[in-house]
Amino acid sequence: MAELHDASALSIDASNDEEQLAAHVAQLRHQIEEANYQYYVQDSPTLTDAEYDQFMLELQRIELEHPELQTPDSPTRRVGSGPVQDVSQHHHPVPMLSLANARSEEELLAWHKRALNILPNATFAYVCELKIDGLAMALTYEHGKLTIGASRGDGLIGEDWTPNVRTVRSIPQRLRGERIPDAVEVRGEIYMSIKSFEKLNESMTDDRLFANPRNAAAGSLRQKDPRITASRHLDFFGYQIGYMQGMNFHSQWEALELIREWGFHVNPNIQLAKSLDEVMEYCKKWEKERFNLPYEIDGVVIKISDLAQQQELGSVARDPRWAIAFKYPPTQVATRLLDIRVNIGRTGSVNPWALLEPVTIRGVTVSRAALHNEGDIQRKDLRIGDRVLVQRAGEVIPQVVKPIIERRTGSEEVYHLPERCPICDTPIVRLEKEAMAYCPNTQCPARNLESFIHFVSKAAMDIDTIGERMCAQLIEAGLVKSVADFYTLTRDQLLALEGIKEKSADNMLKGIEASKHRPLWRLLCGLNIRYVGEKTAQILAQAFSSMDALLAASEQEIGGVAGIGPVIGQSVYAWLQDEQNRALIERLRQLGVNMTEERQKPVEGPLAGQTFLLTGRLSNMTRPAAEEALIRLGGTIASGVSKNLNHLIVGEDAGSKLAKAQKAGVPIHDEQWLIELLKQYE
Ligand code: NAD
Repeated sequence: MAELHDASALSIDASNDEEQLAAHVAQLRHQIEEANYQYYVQDSPTLTDAEYDQFMLELQRIELEHPELQTPDSPTRRVGSGPVQDVSQHHHPVPMLSLANARSEEELLAWHKRALNILPNATFAYVCELKIDGLAMALTYEHGKLTIGASRGDGLIGEDWTPNVRTVRSIPQRLRGERIPDAVEVRGEIYMSIKSFEKLNESMTDDRLFANPRNAAAGSLRQKDPRITASRHLDFFGYQIGYMQGMNFHSQWEALELIREWGFHVNPNIQLAKSLDEVMEYCKKWEKERFNLPYEIDGVVIKISDLAQQQELGSVARDPRWAIAFKYPPTQVATRLLDIRVNIGRTGSVNPWALLEPVTIRGVTVSRAALHNEGDIQRKDLRIGDRVLVQRAGEVIPQVVKPIIERRTGSEEVYHLPERCPICDTPIVRLEKEAMAYCPNTQCPARNLESFIHFVSKAAMDIDTIGERMCAQLIEAGLVKSVADFYTLTRDQLLALEGIKEKSADNMLKGIEASKHRPLWRLLCGLNIRYVGEKTAQILAQAFSSMDALLAASEQEIGGVAGIGPVIGQSVYAWLQDEQNRALIERLRQLGVNMTEERQKPVEGPLAGQTFLLTGRLSNMTRPAAEEALIRLGGTIASGVSKNLNHLIVGEDAGSKLAKAQKAGVPIHDEQWLIELLKQYE
């Protein structure tokens, strides 16, 4: 790959040197082609969108000023990238164009003026749509039946992904309603929700993490095995009619109504605007509100609604003149990784984090990002000094997506976790088969602070009158050395602390008193047992209903609870057997902390009380769909094989769970059994 430069460094003043300018244009084209390939074919961008757009703008500017340098194959005239070789090609009967971009009100106005130049005195109605960040697809329906699902490719030739497209549940196999044309091509965006994207990346254990939901959607659709696509929770919004035979429509607004009528999701936030001011209002509104959406958008698409006007306006190069994308500032930006540092978590985990050269992402200055663990750093091959892509997707904390390897200079340094805890100097330990490293010192001040903050937090004992600063102050004053000490605090002790007045002391004591009556799960969650968060604590509390029952349970009994499994079971059991921990529980009990849980009414449904586990590939449905169906009928999905499991359902290529279940004597069934079971309750 060619060396990549900062776009700014590529700017050339109106140069008289034609040769130099031609070489510059050739270099820009090469870099854009290469970026297109990485982005559209490999689903793994090497530039940020902003950088890419700068290259493109630069090239467009030069081509405009120097028409003699224009060529028909310039990337400014072409869309996307050609189809991959080993997938069938689909020739789009109507080209799938790109969209011209506007980044400011002025640019939007300029677009509007260009349209008025062609159609003077025209009044326009604009359809405003969210610009979903996924990949464009063209779905062909003949007599209402889905026949082809193809990607955009280079706009003229796309890739035929029909079997994969059929697995996307929001794409109808058959159009609904009365008004069915002989043939129609519905265009829209296949996308992945932020939640599904995060879940998918959590399950990616190797170096194949996706940079963003768009790449995840593209990578998930472009799979050789449709079953993989099926498991990836892709979604679809229809937004355009490519062509239609046997019926007519007259505007984009009408097209959206038809698309909805046929059974597609049409984005609910579309709006018909009567003026450019209304359009601008829409753009501004969604610039702020886009972060509340469950999927990513990178802008707004504005389309002149009237079809006759669209036809008169036509297109220029690769963009229709009747539509424009108003783009928002990117949520993924490049910056420098200055250093990697660690802090100590509440369970003693050593948590590396990235110190970044400050950058603004979505209006917030980011100078730190979480890095999870050393393995994660190695998998991503992050080196100190690297130029890296950083993102804030949804409301999550910033993440370092990946290094931009092409930008390496050779001076970057490989990172190793410190050998000793930077706070208490205890040697750090790594448990076999675990990604995390730990400071084993239970008295490590950093670890204590984190664990006390967690104990009082909303997720655990919910003592909202004590915050992080107060926890630090109580530790400093030597008043709280263990979570039980919260319950021995007196009014006088609190009043002796700096800045604490009577009212806040009383409020704190009130909050502490109230927390004594919280259900058992909150205490379990607050005790900093490895792997026990809110959900696991709730499952344990429901299953055992008292601390005494839990203390008396064997490792197998704990691990056998549906939703717990052997790894968590072992961790919980070991924690409960530890003498110091038992002493802590007794002290809490004597101080009046509740140790019981009221059992909830069992879930209703014909399969209530039965636990299921699925393994291997199913051929008639996806595993999540099967699990959902079982849960809907009252069944529970277990996280691992135990003797308490009622049914193991085995698909193709089942792994070790099958052998384990055979050994534990768990009833084993095939997919047909499952289908018949579900049919009984349809
Ligand atoms: P575009 O962003 O210019 O807009 C066209 C696309 O918008 C359509 O193909 C469709 O997929 C999408 N879209 C979403 N909602 C829509 C709606 N309601 N109506 C119509 N279209 C809708 O797309 P493009 O031509 O694929 O790509 C250009 C952009 O992609 C660049 O500006 C850049 O940001 C990014 N890109 C980045 C790199 C990189 O290396 N980072 C490389 C190539 C492209």
